[in-house]
Amino acid sequence: MAKRNCAQAGCPALVEAGVRDGRCLDHRRQVDRERGSATARGYGYTHTQLSKRMRAEAIGMTCHFCKEVMVAGQDLALDHTPDRAGYRGVVHLSCNARDGALRGNAQRLR
Ligand SMILES: [Zn+2]
Ligand SMILES: [Zn+2]
Repeated sequence: MAKRNCAQAGCPALVEAGVRDGRCLDHRRQVDRERGSATARGYGYTHTQLSKRMRAEAIGMTCHFCKEVMVAGQDLALDHTPDRAGYRGVVHLSCNARDGALRGNAQRLR
């Protein structure tokens, strides 16, 4: 079996060609852990990719909560519809958190 270096940059371990991810056992475990934690927080792979692309496209657009333009380097979030069936657009993470908190308070009052 041909061997090559682990796909993780700087890792000297040799890995059999054709192994999943092309990484050594340690780094495959690490990748799985990172994936697992992302899923545990409620952000699956698809969500992460989608929000990354949408965040990039949102630069220069207006946040519909505070009406201010979103610029590179700001923490942005995808704003879900109240029933979480879709997205209303990209907003500032802080605005989204504030909206979520208000919504949470409203539900608690009921
Ligand atoms: Zn490795
Ligand atoms: Zn905002």
